[in-house]
Amino acid sequence: MIDLRSDTVTRPTPAMREVMAAAEVGDDVYGEDPTVRRLEERAADLLGTEAALFVPSGTMGNQTAIACHTRPGQEVIVEEGSHIYNVELATMARFSGVQPRVLPGERGVFTARQVAAAIRPDIYYLAPTGLVCLENTHNAAGGRIWPLAAAREVLDLAHGRGIPVHLDGARILNASVATGIPARELTLGFDSVMFCLSKGLGCPVGSLLCGSREFIAAARRTRKALGGGMRQAGILAAAGLYALDHHVDRLAQDHVHARLLADGLASLPALSVWPPDTNIVIFEIARGPDAEALCQRLRDRGVLASPAGAGTSARQVRMVTHLGISAADVQRTVDLVGRELGTARA
Ligand SMILES: *Cc1c(COP(=O)(O)O)cnc(C)c1O
Repeated sequence: MIDLRSDTVTRPTPAMREVMAAAEVGDDVYGEDPTVRRLEERAADLLGTEAALFVPSGTMGNQTAIACHTRPGQEVIVEEGSHIYNVELATMARFSGVQPRVLPGERGVFTARQVAAAIRPDIYYLAPTGLVCLENTHNAAGGRIWPLAAAREVLDLAHGRGIPVHLDGARILNASVATGIPARELTLGFDSVMFCLSKGLGCPVGSLLCGSREFIAAARRTRKALGGGMRQAGILAAAGLYALDHHVDRLAQDHVHARLLADGLASLPALSVWPPDTNIVIFEIARGPDAEALCQRLRDRGVLASPAGAGTSARQVRMVTHLGISAADVQRTVDLVGRELGTARA
């Protein structure tokens, strides 16, 4: 199977499994797992923050951040297509007692002006704005990179009003590799950043939440409250350390493959393709089968893809490149889609 559904489907490589098996471990709830500690230090160093916390999932990282930055009864500004708003259940309401204030972005990106208009004035019957969240790269917008200047404008605006800003940076390293801008520059000024090890970096489990020492101390308590206190987690952290050493630069390859895929698909007359910034390709089928039907037909022929996420058109398909996808897989996929749409090429 050529599995293009997500970059979460990657399996640990033999070399990664070897370092996992050999990892030095201890009970991390006692603060005694040396490998977890090394990973947390490494992540903090990578993003230029004082501290970091290893969490089981990106969702827990985001929701821990929301819980730590807000008080019940506040609003959190999020983008319409964001992961936090769409596919983390309603956990900000459940666990933090806050409600989302949703801004429509232009392919995932909103402006400081929109944020300014959404921040509630200080009137006693209005819910105060407690947090602003950005997502870089933006998953549902096709791995879109937030332009750095636009992000800085939002940061300045929010901070000027005394409001913290969290970055859902599940794929921030894709943005860094694609732009050549160090991750710590892309995340400069954010009050917290989450990034995933379990996506393109190829780890089986885990994400990191980065921020100030004080913030991470609070986040550690919240992680435990959410059920995320782990014991000999060094086995997982070892995979993370390995990935940060060996799987970051190679993300460039995934981006090349995504562009190959997008170019190939764009040459088929029935498709319109969003030019990919990173490793996610979204295309719309102008005529012929809808997304569900096309994905079913591809599946029967050995290619897995998904209709694009929640709230999008039934004619959009998403394909994600990752370390399990080769250039030959991309070519085979393009040929197959062409055949299924009745536009086989020579
Ligand atoms: C995958 C993802 C998450 C959540 O990560 P999980 O580990 O699946 O909980 C958060 N934000 C974005 C943008 C993601 O793509």
